[in-house]
Amino acid sequence: MKLKKYNEKRDFEKTSEPIGKVKNEKQNRFVVQYHEARAKHYDFRLEHNGVLLSWAVPKGFSYDKKVKRLAVKVEDHPLDYINFEGIIPKGNYGAGTVQIFDKGNYKPVWDMEYGLKKGHLKFVLFGEKLKGEWSLLKTQNENWLLIKSDDEYSGREEQKLTKHKNPFSNCEVQLATLSEKIPKGKDWIFEIKYDGYRMLAFCEYGKVKLFSRNKIDYTNKFPQLLKELKTLCEKHSFVLDGEVVAFDENGRSDFALLKEKMGEDEGNLYYVVFDVLAFQGEDLRNRSLGERKEFLKKLALNEHLIESAFVAGKGKECFALAKKMDLEGIVAKKISSTYNGTRDETWLKIKCRHRQEFVIAGLVTTDKNPVLSALILGYYEGDKLIYVGKVGTGFNAKNRLEIAKKLKKIAKKPAFFENFPKFNNENVIWVEPKEIAEIEFAELTKDKILRQPSFIALRFDKDAKSVFLEEKHEG
Ligand code: MN
Repeated sequence: MKLKKYNEKRDFEKTSEPIGKVKNEKQNRFVVQYHEARAKHYDFRLEHNGVLLSWAVPKGFSYDKKVKRLAVKVEDHPLDYINFEGIIPKGNYGAGTVQIFDKGNYKPVWDMEYGLKKGHLKFVLFGEKLKGEWSLLKTQNENWLLIKSDDEYSGREEQKLTKHKNPFSNCEVQLATLSEKIPKGKDWIFEIKYDGYRMLAFCEYGKVKLFSRNKIDYTNKFPQLLKELKTLCEKHSFVLDGEVVAFDENGRSDFALLKEKMGEDEGNLYYVVFDVLAFQGEDLRNRSLGERKEFLKKLALNEHLIESAFVAGKGKECFALAKKMDLEGIVAKKISSTYNGTRDETWLKIKCRHRQEFVIAGLVTTDKNPVLSALILGYYEGDKLIYVGKVGTGFNAKNRLEIAKKLKKIAKKPAFFENFPKFNNENVIWVEPKEIAEIEFAELTKDKILRQPSFIALRFDKDAKSVFLEEKHEG
């Protein structure tokens, strides 16, 4: 069976090389890949009968017609290998860097099957660097000789590997829109929402620059990550998007911890990479997220550079898990979306809601009826009552009446908020601040006002004076 050998040699959980499948394509393509494995060599591959016939050529191609270069026939490779470029991780077959040296089409001078049987192939290459007629001549076992024919190209200078610079050196980051709904369908993937520094990494042949989302240069703030990025991009160029984070003992990213560790304990910081915006000179921002995730795999991130895990199409489950783990939230991304560098609906952040008790300081009623439209809430900071917002959802018709009735009995003027809010044009009834309501909410705004609060229940088991702000949930 074709490609059996190829598949046997590789663990596709560990390498980003394509899985070997025979394809019914007939394009007569060729590729030459420069492979910096234990021994550096060029891999020469010719498309034939749904696979790539392959030879390892230690010294590469010579344009000198008198030079015979050794070419060792190796196992057939799948057609998808034509586009393969990347890092095969340590410990894997062929570990090292693979770069495309040249690719294009070829035309056999005589029938390939006949040539293979005879041990003598002749073909014309139509590449960028490799042009003209060449032949492969079998000597013994798997050893062949690669020889340039005498034509208009012979005698030409040997071509060098091209370096691909990044197509841009700064860009706008893609931002997520806050959403309450978890999108459904297979076109969405879900990732953890990390709490750290959003960071773009511009990496080019051993040189690295790090920029925050507002384009502040962070290059020298994370020495360990910088070192690892430089190693990673020794042979390549790429632009990464991710978040620099510190993980707490439960594996959650923790912004406070990150600030603590910066500068003193930077060995414990991680760069969680979730996107790649350019690779080997190609701008990938107009490619789909799904394709960009494929490019990300080629980089073989390791140590403190880690790939952000994602799950396809299981938003509800992810969100439940995130809640259970007490994470900040999840981010939903549309697989088919391009990277626009804006805040649009293709990236959504869904925050895990928080829950705590607050003191009821008043109620807002509808005009004439004693029906509750919202509760006015606060918490204590010492003896001071601090306003935290209103809640108008989570009630039903029955408790809107009941709660209003109950509260009216303890009406009192006025409630003493430290940060006294104005309620123009509203029917506000202030009450003695002693009743407690349990509230679920998305987060606190920067001004420490509840965002998306929802009423759960009245609580009777606590002293109002013991109600304080439990956590600072700043967005
Ligand atoms: Mn190789």
